[in-house]
Amino acid sequence: MSNVQVAVVTGSNKGIGLAIVRALCKQFPGDVYVTSRDPGRGQAAVAQLQQEGLRPLFHQLDIDDLQSIRVLRDFLKEKYGGLNVLVNNAGIAFKVHDTTPFAVQAEVTLKTNFFGTRNVCTELLPLMKPYGRVVNVSSMVSSSALRGCSQELQQKFRSDTITEDELVQLMAKFVEDTKRGVHEKEGWPNTAYGVSKIGVTVLSRIQARLLNEQRKGDHILLNACCPGWVRTDMAGPKATKSPDEGAETPVYLALLPSSADAPHGQFVSDKTVKPW
Ligand code: NAP
Repeated sequence: MSNVQVAVVTGSNKGIGLAIVRALCKQFPGDVYVTSRDPGRGQAAVAQLQQEGLRPLFHQLDIDDLQSIRVLRDFLKEKYGGLNVLVNNAGIAFKVHDTTPFAVQAEVTLKTNFFGTRNVCTELLPLMKPYGRVVNVSSMVSSSALRGCSQELQQKFRSDTITEDELVQLMAKFVEDTKRGVHEKEGWPNTAYGVSKIGVTVLSRIQARLLNEQRKGDHILLNACCPGWVRTDMAGPKATKSPDEGAETPVYLALLPSSADAPHGQFVSDKTVKPW
């Protein structure tokens, strides 16, 4: 087993994830993994960074596939005895004008952005080493979607005592409510992406609380963040930030120094803690 530190970025064959790997290759003192659900796209990303003089490594990871997550978990356990930095970046969004039925968009979006991200956390958080850093890439859209929820839902999502099980049930209820055509009546906003990112932000708050309760002495810091509006395949060419600029806040959180005890359990945008 090697004593080398290790960082993993999900969904890093392109976009913000690739830019996060680029920055970590320059600043993180250890191995940095590009992960991709498609090995070909992942290896192409590695080759691109190699041309820039960087030395990322590659491992397959489809966050929709529990088996794939577990293969990565076992690899990290065996090769490194754990994990120092985890950036949950992988995500999807239907285009605004996509005509796919809303209930299908809800199921597909929640499957990756919330349930996939949660499965990665369930499998990899126990591997986090002392002073580890976890970054869950959410979105400012989670805040606007929260404001679009009923008062009752807002109260639940802002609660300091909501459990992971309760959150999972709420996310599953959203999908069910869209299938029955009652999501608006049930107090949900009309955005599947927004609800999925509410899930990511609230999950981060819960996980940070659990780390406080169960691993206080390990100084692990876990936060959700928004990268900003970034020119990628997801957001399009009109967005204001380059992918490297979009990577700045996630990388800042991934590299918080060992002397830091904050931010933790926060939603961070432009390197600033935002109210939830
Ligand atoms: P992107 O260019 O579309 O890249 C998304 C990445 O996620 C791709 O590498 C994609 O892989 C990967 N991915 C999707 N589903 C996956 C799965 N099941 N398993 C593993 N990887 C998967 O989007 P981006 O703009 O860089 O977005 C990155 C993150 O930032 C997302 O979480 C997004 O919600 C968030 N975000 C983006 C913006 C923005 O303005 N761009 C704003 C706020 C938040 P494939 O190539 O295989 O599809």
